[in-house]
Amino acid sequence: MKLKSLTLNGFKSFAEKTTIEFRHGLTAIVGPNGSGKSNLIEAIRWVLGEQSAKSLRGSKMPDVIFAGSTKQQALNRAEVELLLDNSDHFLPMESTEIAIDRRIYRNGESEYLLNGKNVRLKDITDLLLDTGLGRDSFSIISQGKVEQIFSSKPVERRQIIEEAAGILKYKQERTSAQNKLVETEDHLLRVADIISELA
Ligand code: ATP
Repeated sequence: MKLKSLTLNGFKSFAEKTTIEFRHGLTAIVGPNGSGKSNLIEAIRWVLGEQSAKSLRGSKMPDVIFAGSTKQQALNRAEVELLLDNSDHFLPMESTEIAIDRRIYRNGESEYLLNGKNVRLKDITDLLLDTGLGRDSFSIISQGKVEQIFSSKPVERRQIIEEAAGILKYKQERTSAQNKLVETEDHLLRVADIISELA
């Protein structure tokens, strides 16, 4: 699975529709201070479901919408599309290309699309869980993150290793199975009560 392209439209400083294609090999993005390099990385995190406006250097989510400049008026909508090459079927979907799309409007309303179909954030999160591409994964190392990893508590560091090893999904499944088990035991106790009342 590889990143194919990233399209921004009204996201932060990218007022105009802009597409960046990722070719084979390494991609380096260079530019003067304030030209939008970090905004590009934030666009990737945002389209993958980032929920914290603060971590995107804003106070509320609609702050990611182009706020206007001396030459151009503010916009009312931001959209980011990430196109993935899934020809190796790394992501459990039949399509060889996967388009993840997120939109937000000034009133805070937002939507997610997966290959053009409206989906819930959970569908995106589930699809990317344990792939290393999820919004909390460590495939994106932002400024200060390395230091944060070194100074993190052992439990937090373990989470990073678990995500990298791909066992987070199984841990979540285990928790949900344990919850079901507790529920079933409760039901069994109730049945036993009813039986003893009837006896
Ligand atoms: P540096 O090299 O200094 O880290 P950079 O290339 O990473 O800079 P960014 O931090 O990505 O640059 O971009 C900052 C620019 O984006 C600023 O000029 C800021 O005004 C602009 N910007 C951020 N949010 C918005 C927004 N909602 N609307 C318009 N412009 C925005």
